[in-house]
Amino acid sequence: MAYRYCPQCATALALVEQMEDGGPKARMRCTACDFTHWNNPTPVLAAVVECEDRGGQLLLARNAAWPGRMFALITGFMEAGETPEAGIRREVAEETGLEVGTVSLIGVYDFQRMNQVIIAYHAQARGEIRLSPELAEYRLFAPAEVKCWPAGTGYALADWLRARGHQPQFIELPPRA
Ligand SMILES: [Zn+2]
Repeated sequence: MAYRYCPQCATALALVEQMEDGGPKARMRCTACDFTHWNNPTPVLAAVVECEDRGGQLLLARNAAWPGRMFALITGFMEAGETPEAGIRREVAEETGLEVGTVSLIGVYDFQRMNQVIIAYHAQARGEIRLSPELAEYRLFAPAEVKCWPAGTGYALADWLRARGHQPQFIELPPRA
């Protein structure tokens, strides 16, 4: 979220250099009150969804808002008052309709282009697939044939594959519009 106005007093923010613990730093700050727009990365939850009742295939989904036919891990934002693990259970259940069993942390990854930090889990799931309206379609992939993006959640998927003895294959990202 890039603020243009102070959320405390509605004055336009300006790029102002101030002394911080790490030395002088220019940030978007309010010139009328003491507000600083820190612009810290937002945590995003992601899941490698393994369908236990479909031979261990991985469910990847295409977001309805994306151009092209790109399939990705299930992702979502944490809600206030929930743990990351509870959050990824909720997201997988809401977005796929699956029953979520064991979830385990894969790792934490930076995604600087989106100013996000990705907290990636492996989620074992089963049941009937019913996509939320956010998702346009899904595909099931055998772990040996799935391809990883060279960014963000793709590195989480690659680490998960390596831990299971698969050499991850990367695809090129489509050009940005
Ligand atoms: Zn202000």
